[in-house]
Amino acid sequence: MTPLLLRNEAFARDHGPVPLAPPAASLVVVGCLDHRVDPATVLGLELGDAPVIRNAGGRVSPAVISDLAYLAFLARQVFQVSGPLFEVAVIHHTQCGTGFLADDGFRRQAAAATGLSEQTLAATEVADPYDTVRVDVERLLAAPSLPPEISVSGHVYDVETGRVATVVGARNPGADRVPAG
Ligand SMILES: [Zn+2]
Repeated sequence: MTPLLLRNEAFARDHGPVPLAPPAASLVVVGCLDHRVDPATVLGLELGDAPVIRNAGGRVSPAVISDLAYLAFLARQVFQVSGPLFEVAVIHHTQCGTGFLADDGFRRQAAAATGLSEQTLAATEVADPYDTVRVDVERLLAAPSLPPEISVSGHVYDVETGRVATVVGARNPGADRVPAG
């Protein structure tokens, strides 16, 4: 951390605090923790623009859904946002390190070394980001805890070119649900 604290010193010198408010870009990003794919850099996000949820692969796990449900509640309850709340952009990427988990032998070794179950590890796998991002968008659209006032889209970041391509355009959860009552 020592050299990075010096960078922070330079950052803090010109820093103006950002007030607590809904994300300025009306966006929440779900992405991989890989240090080559930081959404702040790739999408040019500024402080206050968008919350970013990152895990191995950028996969939609129950924990990710819980965080999104809480953010939606916060936007409505604390910031009194009415109507559309924010777009959730799921971004998977090429050359993902979780791709190794597609190999049975590698997954078995990883399970033994980490104490995680093979099933848990398999759930983080991104061998083909164009496939997995579709799966995860559907997972969010089907999540009962997410309100129809958010929208969900899916994208792939190409590590080689630096380009983000939209694979699934924005849709609202519950659009296909039969209204209750
Ligand atoms: Zn990755």
